[in-house]
Amino acid sequence: MSVGVLALQGDFREHADVLRSLGSEVTLVRRPEELASVTGLVIPGGESSVMDKLTRMFGLADPLRAAVQGGMPVYGTCAGLIMLADNVLDGISGQQSIGGLDISVRRNAFGSQTASFETDLDVPALGETPVHAVFIRAPVVETIGSRATALATIADGRCVAVEQGNLLGTSFHPEITGEYRFHEYFLQKVQTAGFGA
Ligand code: GLN
Repeated sequence: MSVGVLALQGDFREHADVLRSLGSEVTLVRRPEELASVTGLVIPGGESSVMDKLTRMFGLADPLRAAVQGGMPVYGTCAGLIMLADNVLDGISGQQSIGGLDISVRRNAFGSQTASFETDLDVPALGETPVHAVFIRAPVVETIGSRATALATIADGRCVAVEQGNLLGTSFHPEITGEYRFHEYFLQKVQTAGFGA
């Protein structure tokens, strides 16, 4: 059984590399049949408005919603977090998400590409060593509903990592900094869920 990475757009190769380094077999998901064959899915960073259009064009949007509702473990980074949010603020006209996470996410909350930044975050769920986090035109979790839990906040108190059952989302990109703990955490969910087995 293999773990999927949504591979329509964005930095899916980096996620696939991290998952392979952790011993997972990886399927790049571009078609519904590929989604049906995986035990969990990573939705990469990229551009959520483009990813939204492509998932609909490729007939993946509804199968993705069904998979999330059916309990598939899914980890979204940055644009992937936006795709998993029930409510997207500052989306382009007509932008949709897959949803699942009981949160409102604001796109480009820190400004443009040039306002990208790096910082160290405390993430108690992953242990004592801080996570080095890179934010690239990153979203922020503006409101968290009762079903979701914050895993990390930046210095000003805004939430940048969340969890809800089998769903995990981060505003930042662990896949590009050699930080493997979020992927390990996700793979534990995959193992426990036994989705599609
Ligand atoms: N700003 C992008 C969006 O709205 C996300 C950026 C990223 O994934 N690094 O989709």
